[in-house]
Amino acid sequence: MTDHPRIPLAGVIGSPIAHSRSPILHNYWLKRYGIKGHYIPMDIGQGDLAEALRMLPRMGFVGLNVTIPHKETVIRLADIVTDRAALIGAANTLIFRSDGKIHADNTDGSGFIANLRQNAPDWQPKAGPAVVFGAGGAARAVIAALIEVGVPEIRLANRTRARVEALRADFGAKITPVDWVQIPHMLDDAATVINTTALGMIGKPELNIALDNLNPKALVNDLVYTPLQTEFLTAAAERGCKTVDGLGMLLHQAAPGFERWFGHRPEVDEETRDAVMGV
Ligand code: NAP
Repeated sequence: MTDHPRIPLAGVIGSPIAHSRSPILHNYWLKRYGIKGHYIPMDIGQGDLAEALRMLPRMGFVGLNVTIPHKETVIRLADIVTDRAALIGAANTLIFRSDGKIHADNTDGSGFIANLRQNAPDWQPKAGPAVVFGAGGAARAVIAALIEVGVPEIRLANRTRARVEALRADFGAKITPVDWVQIPHMLDDAATVINTTALGMIGKPELNIALDNLNPKALVNDLVYTPLQTEFLTAAAERGCKTVDGLGMLLHQAAPGFERWFGHRPEVDEETRDAVMGV
């Protein structure tokens, strides 16, 4: 029998999955770097998740990205969970190790910071409070990352107040819970303002927050990337703020997984952005 090297396979699991841009991104990088490998979307329901994670490594998969609704469940199914994934309570990147163990990591927070560092190199996270809208899964990764880079205070507001209190219990005294209606009064000394809600996304209502008091020196970031330029970012730019869209976070959170699975650290640049946005 001839010993053929296996072509590495990776993919993204979730349900639904058709909307995911990860296959476009990873297949673009595979082609760009001439790497033999494949990356495919897989719609896997909750009931099939555990079996899929057992079977996929046997079929040549070296790892996976994980999206809604499996990000929390995979933490329980993995053998090794990184500290940051454990703190966030969710994983977005799995590595199937050669010893059979499943390694779970969360790269959303590092992707979030890398996006800001790349597109706003003058950003000073320690210069003042951050104001964060939203308290879902993405907010947890953003908050963990902001604390890691030394943000002195995080003013956190969400439609459902109970989720803010839960985050305060998990992340501690740097979190100042703020009522949603009080947000406009919390912006005048903010160094960083981030929308982690789904508001402003195509098909969702707009994020309607009065920005009259917004500090023009604040860096403003929206995690939403469809559309790239949200009304929120446009309004912040009109106040004179430096703004950063959410696409870079998507690209940067994907890079560590690609490197581990396919052995090449990919570039996150204009060409990559254009490839993913279909320009
Ligand atoms: P999630 O866990 O479902 O949380 C959704 C958040 O949006 C919650 O805070 C929710 O508030 C809020 N929200 C939804 N509809 C609302 C409405 N009508 N009014 C007020 N608040 C509303 O989702 P997620 O995973 O955190 O994702 C949130 C957003 O970030 C999505 O747009 C997602 O595409 C984006 N995202 C982007 C990246 C990236 O790489 N750029 C990565 C992750 C996520 P309640 O708690 O009150 O429901």
